[in-house]
Amino acid sequence: IERTLVLVKPDGVARNLSGAIVARIEAKGYTLAELKKVTATRGQLEQHYAEHAGKPFYEPLVEFMLSGPVIAAIFEGHRVIEGFRALAGTTDPTTAAPGTIRGDFGRDWGLKVQQNLVHGSDSVESAEREIGIWFA
Ligand code: ATP
Repeated sequence: IERTLVLVKPDGVARNLSGAIVARIEAKGYTLAELKKVTATRGQLEQHYAEHAGKPFYEPLVEFMLSGPVIAAIFEGHRVIEGFRALAGTTDPTTAAPGTIRGDFGRDWGLKVQQNLVHGSDSVESAEREIGIWFA
């Protein structure tokens, strides 16, 4: 069965949206397999965001992800990876489609990093790699 790693980022946790976000993923029909609240380590984030190392938003992104606890979860279901990404919406929350998590709950706060509430794996390979980082 396909799995994906979902993170509710520190902005979502701080705004008390964790439950609403999890509920939307469950309501779409995916199964919650694991869930925990954790404060990330820099090492975990360096692994998680290795593909972005060196980009201008990389350091602000890591600092943001260290700024408070996150919810790490594994959801399961046929085509859950693309299904969650459709539910999350596009990266920029200002223009993410209404009806999506980012589109309904997020906006640009004028910071160096897009605070866009959630992360979801983008492929089966990424999902298995990321699950290993957050659920070692
Ligand atoms: P995708 O863009 O593939 O849908 P994603 O939304 O997770 O995935 P990534 O491109 O993997 O976005 O970037 C990781 C995170 O870095 C984003 O979710 C966002 O928080 C931040 N980010 C990405 N691009 C920018 C940018 N140009 N400026 C500021 N922050 C950014």
